[in-house]
Parts: sequence; structure tokens; C-alpha cells
Amino acid sequence: MSIDFIRRAARIALTDVCDMLLDRRCSGCGGSAPRDGEICSACDALVDRTGVALCLRCLHGDAVTPEVARGCPSHGSARLLLAGPRFEPPLDRLIHAFKYEGVSALAPWVASLLPEPPDLRGSVGREYVLVPVALHPARRAWRGYDQALLLAHEASVRWGVPVVEALVRVRDHPPQARLDPERRRTNVKGAFRVAARTLIEGRPCLLLDDVATTGSTLLEAAEALEQAGASWVLALSAAHGGQAP
Ligand SMILES: [Zn+2]
Ligand SMILES: [Zn+2]
Repeated sequence: MSIDFIRRAARIALTDVCDMLLDRRCSGCGGSAPRDGEICSACDALVDRTGVALCLRCLHGDAVTPEVARGCPSHGSARLLLAGPRFEPPLDRLIHAFKYEGVSALAPWVASLLPEPPDLRGSVGREYVLVPVALHPARRAWRGYDQALLLAHEASVRWGVPVVEALVRVRDHPPQARLDPERRRTNVKGAFRVAARTLIEGRPCLLLDDVATTGSTLLEAAEALEQAGASWVLALSAAHGGQAP
């Protein structure tokens, strides 16, 4: 028996013991999690990877096409959202774990649901900046991380677009999850300011959040960026619609 073989066997046995002691579970179904991930293959297979292009004001839209600027019948094409799958089981449980149960290790998987903006591959893509929707500092301190910022770092590596933390949440407010759409809109009014105009002035911004339920938070953040001189804002979310559990 070679030393290498013994080492490998010892490493596998140690990982098994660690998994057993830590009782690693899939956040989607509670079944065993694979050694190299936080989500089991059955849950992963249940999540549809088709992105959608939606109007940010009313979340009307359909499958992503090269002509995302086609626009919404009610609101034109000024503000668009490229979103990952619908917020429904098992994705709702997974995102809940990512956001509220401290499972920050789900970030790469959740970020893999973000649809890639269509013209990033061209030279124009280099001018983009990725702007995460900011948590209020108090909420970020309490949670220990900012989930949109984690997603932005993952997307940044994948797309080669820099992350710019341009937004500051100036007002903490009750969590949006339990509010009706009308209350959500008033709830986020004036919630953001831009840290410094020079961060985004004249640049197209990819504004990023984990879930767009009604789009109201992203819309408010998009307006703050545009008022501070962003040339264009495209909102991105890993999931859309539904109600938080
Ligand atoms: Zn599972
Ligand atoms: Zn619309």
C-alpha cells in the first residue's frame, strides 16, 4: 500500500466523520447534502434555469431574448429586470436559508441562477459596474453578511465586471416579505442614496438583488442610481415573484 493511498483513504474517512458530526443537510429538502455542495442533486434538478426579462414596474414579461429592450405594454422599456426562476419550492426554501438562516455558502449556487446580461461579451461590457442592493448597516451587522454583495462578487468573477458598492441604505424598514405590494412601495421610498456620484456617473449599472418579489426595492434603487447620473440601469435578480415563506 502506498503512502498516497493511505493519505487519500484517511482524508476520505476524515471527511465522512466531519460530515456525520456536522450533519450537513440540503437546505432545500433536508436530505443529505453532497460533499462538494450545499444542495442535493434532486433539488438542483427541480430548479428551472430559464431566465426571464421583465418590466421592473409590473414584472410583466417573458423568456429572455436578444431584444430585451422590446418593452412592456404598460410601461415601455425604460426599466428592465432580468430574473432567474420563480420563487417557489424548493427555491424559496433555499433562498430563505441563504438570506435568513446564515447559509452564506449557498452564494455560488444562488448566483448561478442570475441570467447573464446579453451584451456583456462585447467591449461595451467592460464599462459596466455591478451594484448590489445594499442592506442597512444594522441589518448587515446582525446577519453577518450582505447576501446581494455575496452574489455580486460571484457574478463579478463570472462576467469580469467590477463590483461597486455605490448604494447606501439610509433607512432601515420592516422586512418586505410580509407586506402587500402597495405597502412595499411606500416602505422603500427614499431608502437609498448613492455614496458618491463619481462611482457610477455616466456608467451602465447592473443592479443586483437576490429576489424581486414586486420589484419595488430594485425600482427604488434604480431611481437613486439614475438620479446620481448612471447612464442606464439593468436590474438583475436570482429569482422573482412569489411570497417569502
Ligand atoms: Zn435537497
Ligand atoms: Zn410594466
